Amino acid sequence: MTKWSDGIYLLGNFNQLKAGCWLLIHKKEAAILDMPTYESGEFSPACYCSFLIEEGYKVRFLLSSHSHWDHFSLRTLQDFHKKFPTAMLYLSCQYQHIPPAIPTTYFQNETVLDLGGEPLYLVHAPKHSLEDTIVIFRGTAMMGDWELNTIYSVHNDVTIEKRRISIEHMMEFEKEKNYKIKRTFANHGNDRRDNVDFTELMKDTLLERKLFD
Ligand SMILES: [Zn+2]
Repeated sequence: MTKWSDGIYLLGNFNQLKAGCWLLIHKKEAAILDMPTYESGEFSPACYCSFLIEEGYKVRFLLSSHSHWDHFSLRTLQDFHKKFPTAMLYLSCQYQHIPPAIPTTYFQNETVLDLGGEPLYLVHAPKHSLEDTIVIFRGTAMMGDWELNTIYSVHNDVTIEKRRISIEHMMEFEKEKNYKIKRTFANHGNDRRDNVDFTELMKDTLLERKLFD
């Protein structure tokens, strides 16, 4: 487990694509972000969370950035559900086929949860995939697999018009919520940006820059 910033920890990277599983904590309450697939020879991401029970944390939410196979596995979700049966899974309306045994709340556009008195924002903002959910907590935006500094994406499930709407929506976030986003992390843990001007970063992400320059 690696601390990335106050209240945000990378539990580990899983599967051949090294998708991250993240822990968000504040005042003895916790949320898990992403349910990565694990392969033979790997432990379930849920195995790295036993200390939360031992140390008296309450895991309240299970969250997901998007449903690509490396980030979202039903097996991992079941493992977390078994360990933290009262944790509520929060998903944007785009997700489907969740087993009925898992308590799930679907949200439209965006929602704000409370984790130990801290706001935890979930914003449905499709760009890389139809389900893309940006998670904002303690001044950090967890960007999922969003490609930054370009409107383009490695996938074409989301039309360029819809991507533009998502980016413009994120561009309004700070002003609308009177909330400062200081950092962005990629959910693979392969991109970290500190001291960002998030609104400017979103403006820059509208540009039609080549993906792999
Ligand atoms: Zn990914």
